[in-house]
Parts: sequence; structure tokens; C-alpha cells
Amino acid sequence: MTYQQHIPLRPFNTFGIEAEARHYCEIHSVSDLQAIARQQGDEPMHILGGGSNVLLTGPVQGRVLHIRIPGRNVEAVSGNTALVAAGAGENWHDFVQWCLAQSLGGLENLSLIPGSVGASPIQNIGAYGVELKDVFHSLEAVRLSDGELVTMDAADCAFGYRDSFFKREGKGRYAIVKVYFQLTTSKHRLRLDYGAIRDTLKEMNVAHPDIHDISRAIIQIRQSKLPDPALIGNAGSFFKNPETEADTWQRLSELHPGMPHFPLPDGRVKIPAGWLIEQCGWKGFREGDAGCYDKQALVLVNYGQATGQEILSLARRIAASVQERFGMVIEPEVNVW
Ligand SMILES: Cc1cc2nc3c(=O)[nH]c(=O)nc-3n(C[C@H](O)[C@H](O)[C@H](O)COP(=O)(O)OP(=O)(O)OC[C@H]3O[C@@H](n4cnc5c(N)ncnc54)[C@H](O)[C@@H]3O)c2cc1C
Repeated sequence: MTYQQHIPLRPFNTFGIEAEARHYCEIHSVSDLQAIARQQGDEPMHILGGGSNVLLTGPVQGRVLHIRIPGRNVEAVSGNTALVAAGAGENWHDFVQWCLAQSLGGLENLSLIPGSVGASPIQNIGAYGVELKDVFHSLEAVRLSDGELVTMDAADCAFGYRDSFFKREGKGRYAIVKVYFQLTTSKHRLRLDYGAIRDTLKEMNVAHPDIHDISRAIIQIRQSKLPDPALIGNAGSFFKNPETEADTWQRLSELHPGMPHFPLPDGRVKIPAGWLIEQCGWKGFREGDAGCYDKQALVLVNYGQATGQEILSLARRIAASVQERFGMVIEPEVNVW
């Protein structure tokens, strides 16, 4: 395996930030990745997928391994459940559509999320009432310290809200090479009670939706709300929605009537970060080419030539103003490199 030197990463991150990788290598097979891990020793390795959840703030030191491992396959069918495997380098949305084309259900609410299959467990991707963990079976990953191929189940991955083992104890230690999903072949469980799904289906004149209709509705909703990275650089939601104790929420809602919230199963409460940011006056804000998207305050955007440092500085100012006004800490969802 040979590295390329000084490779511009702008085409490989959806923020469209210019930064170079000192050493860059595309990985097309598990054995190549294992060989690299065995040679590498202690030098930091950065695993890159579709680049839709990273903010590059300068030249990337160490080695950038761009995971391009292909493959998708129905491994087994039992009753109305199918075990489906996909290589980490597969494009997530293409994989979702491939499953739908075979009438496999479970991923439809996760349509049009950018990025790769291999990154989907990292932050337990979620949208419209479904999270990766709801359809996850297991994964295979290469341990970067010694090139060993390991298998992990859901308990090993410790999934949480936009969180997993890979964002905490496992951070930077594994490259995921394959993900196994448990999908349905019939009697699909339709998830319609989130956001504008039902209203959109109604507008589409769909009275009895199936998984294909749900995917189409989700695509329509997402296209109307989120900036297309091909047109405006962004990484989706920049911040996670903060979670708080119910009594804190009670106190805050008295001070700030109209504050939206979602009760969580454990009695805590989730508050939309986009609302908090909007209340602080950031929605539509622009400074140079760094900005806060005018249709969704949770999304930070690069209008062209913004640097990662400029986006990061804007994110810090936004978080500080939310903390000052509401006493709430909002944390980035995006991985800052
Ligand atoms: C317009 C837009 C909308 C979005 N909407 C959503 C949404 O609704 N829900 C949601 O959850 N996310 C959303 N995102 C965020 C993003 O799409 C997901 O986080 C996605 O899973 C990132 O995939 P990626 O391949 O681009 O990862 P990258 O950006 O390449 O990497 C993200 C992180 O994962 C690590 N990583 C990547 N691949 C691997 C691998 N194979 N093994 C180990 N580590 C790896 C990287 O090191 C990095 O830390 C959105 C982004 C955009 C731009």
C-alpha cells in the first residue's frame, strides 16, 4: 500500500473546507487495512468515510485512511427477518435504496443521510424516529493497534443518542469494515409519528403508505429543510440537542415560555438546540463565508471559502451565547479534526 503526500481534502468533506492530508491512502480491502495497521505502530490514523460529519481545522497530521471497502449482500433470511451486510465504504443512501429495491424494511426513515455505511455506527445515526441501533445486528472492525479483525455486537457498541463506544473509549482505535443489519422482509414496522411524515404523505396523496412511500416522504422533507452540501457546504446538525433533568426543564420553561421539548423514556427532557440557537439571534447570521443556515439554525454552513477555524470560532460563539442565555451547554455533533 502506498501513501500519497499532500492531498487536498476539499473534495472529501461536505463542509467543502480546504485542508491537506500529509499522508493519504484509499483503502479498498480489509487485508490492505490490516497490513497498514500492522506496519503503522503508534502514528495517529484518521479514518475518513464520506466526510459529512467532520470539520477540518488545519492540515491533518498523521495518516488519513479513506475507507472505500465495497460490498452488500443478503446473508440469511429467517421468518420475516433478513440479515444484510454492507462494506464500510458503501454510500449510506445508495445502500438504503438498494435494500428498499428488494423490499427490505427498517432503513426507510434513514433515507438521504449523507456518508458511508462504515460511519453509521459511530454516532448511531438517527432521523425521523429511527436510530441505527434499531436495525443494527453487529459489525466487523480492524483494531488499528495490531490489525486484528474483531466482531462487535450492539452491547459492545454501547449506542446512545448520537453516541457510541467509538466516540468515547474506542475513539480512534478501530476502523469499521463491515456492518450487519437486521431488516424485515414483510410485515414491516412503519414509523410515521415523527416530524412531518404523516402530513407529507397526505400531501403526496398516500393513504396506505409502505416503506417506499415513507422513504420518498423523508427525502422530500429533508430536501426542503436541509442545505444540499453540493451547493452549500455543511455537515448537517452541528450540535446535539441537549438533554436535561425534568425539573431544570420546568424552571427554564417558566423563564422562557414556548420552549419546545421532547420527554425521554428515562424521565429526562430533550430540548431542540436549533430553537435555543435561533432564540439567541443566530439564524441566518453570516460573517465572511461562515454562517448559520437561514432555514435551520442547527446547521452551520460554508458559503464558499470559509476556513475550518472560522466555522469553529462561530460554533464556539453560538455555544457560549446559548450557555449565557439559557445556562445550557450544547455540544458539537460534528467531529472536529
Ligand atoms: C446535509 C446533512 C444531513 C445530515 N443528516 C443527518 C441525520 O439526519 N442524522 C445523522 O445522524 N447524521 C446526519 N448527518 C451527519 C452525517 O451524515 C453522519 O454522521 C454520517 O454517518 C457520517 O458519515 P461519513 O461517512 O461521512 O463519516 P465521516 O464524516 O467521514 O466521519 C465521521 C466520523 O466517523 C469516523 N469514521 C468514518 N468512517 C469510519 C469507519 N469506517 N470506521 C471507523 N470510524 C469511521 C471518522 O473518523 C469521523 O470521526 C448529516 C450530514 C449532512 C451533511
